[in-house]
Amino acid sequence: MPNTIDELIKQVEARQDELVQLLERLIRFPTPAPPARNTDEAQRFIASFLQDNGFTVDKWDVYPGDPNVAGVLKGSHPEHYKSLIVNGHIDVAEVSEDEAWEQGPFTPVVTDGVIIGRGAADMKGGMAGALFAVQLLHEAGIHLPGDLIFQSVIGEEVGEAGTLECCKRGYTADFAVVVDSSDLHIQGQGGVITGWITVKSSQTHHDATRKSMIHAGGKRFAASAIEKMMRIIQGLQELERHWAVMKSYPGYEPGTNTINPAVIEGGRHAAFIADECRLWITVHFYPNETYEQVAQEIEEHIRQVAAADVWLRENPPRFEWGGSSMIEDRGEIFPSLEVDPDHPGVQTLKRSHEGVLRMPAVVDVSPTVTDGGWFGHAGIPAAIYGPGDLHNAHSVNEQLSVRQLVDYTKVILKFIYEWGHTKK
Ligand SMILES: [Zn+2]
Repeated sequence: MPNTIDELIKQVEARQDELVQLLERLIRFPTPAPPARNTDEAQRFIASFLQDNGFTVDKWDVYPGDPNVAGVLKGSHPEHYKSLIVNGHIDVAEVSEDEAWEQGPFTPVVTDGVIIGRGAADMKGGMAGALFAVQLLHEAGIHLPGDLIFQSVIGEEVGEAGTLECCKRGYTADFAVVVDSSDLHIQGQGGVITGWITVKSSQTHHDATRKSMIHAGGKRFAASAIEKMMRIIQGLQELERHWAVMKSYPGYEPGTNTINPAVIEGGRHAAFIADECRLWITVHFYPNETYEQVAQEIEEHIRQVAAADVWLRENPPRFEWGGSSMIEDRGEIFPSLEVDPDHPGVQTLKRSHEGVLRMPAVVDVSPTVTDGGWFGHAGIPAAIYGPGDLHNAHSVNEQLSVRQLVDYTKVILKFIYEWGHTKK
């Protein structure tokens, strides 16, 4: 039986077929979101996998058919040693009928050193690697002194924050690693918040009254909500440009902080003046900003824009920020995550990567968003570190190289072991 961590790491190489099979097993559970509400079977599999490896498992419905799983492996000396959360999402990006997959999105294929299937890169690969690491530790009879918490969450692809639900339920640790696709980089992230801006008239006017509200002598104080929304969109563009000029963050191209007018809805019928217009925006911000802060900046700027317009001044726009699901209430929040390169968790992860792979570790920022921000939001130091790259995430024939999966599993095994043996 391997009794040192180095021997255990060699086991990953020797037993890589088992690791690949575990990933194939996870891919076979069809857990696309949307439509979501389809993760129960996969989560039952993960719950029993964790139980088999010594964890006490907590499983609860976030939505019917979409339960979270959190397993706790109590350390032998938890009061003296560091605790760790390993977090991943079990849902995968949606697939459509007409996509030309090698075999079908949920029928994994291993060919030419890659595993093809929905979720291979985002992020069942990271889940399989971390689960396999847990299994190897258990089989070797290694009992960590620090607590280990494994979270398999739902809803990430549709802005349903399974991870936030874990935080709300009280799960916390000295460090969290989100095993989402980062191509083995150690990453922080910017954030995203969606919002609705609504312009609404208190009165509804017939189409034939337009002339009296826009021409001299008409004496009707009224406006089209659609036309007034144009002012607001211009205001958003001005602010977006101002942000691009004034704000920056290392690792991001200037102007990555954008305000996207994504969806517009308005008017009721061609026989009326539009009395309501709603704009759905997506705001990207930097790791050192919060969603509360950027939402406030937008509101303040747009209030000034409205104050400079005679009609909007009397009929100010309304703002609704965020939401807890893109499919239930058309809104989402991904808080940002700033990674402190000097944090002992990041340092240990870096050393594990460099020691195992004999390659420098890259600490940078993700060009996308993950659940990592919820840890930042909860005050839990965290980093994203997973296999798979973003070219593959959400793509047809999504794939992950077996080599990278094996490398990843070795590093995460070493890291879980080292961090669990780090004194508080
Ligand atoms: Zn992901």
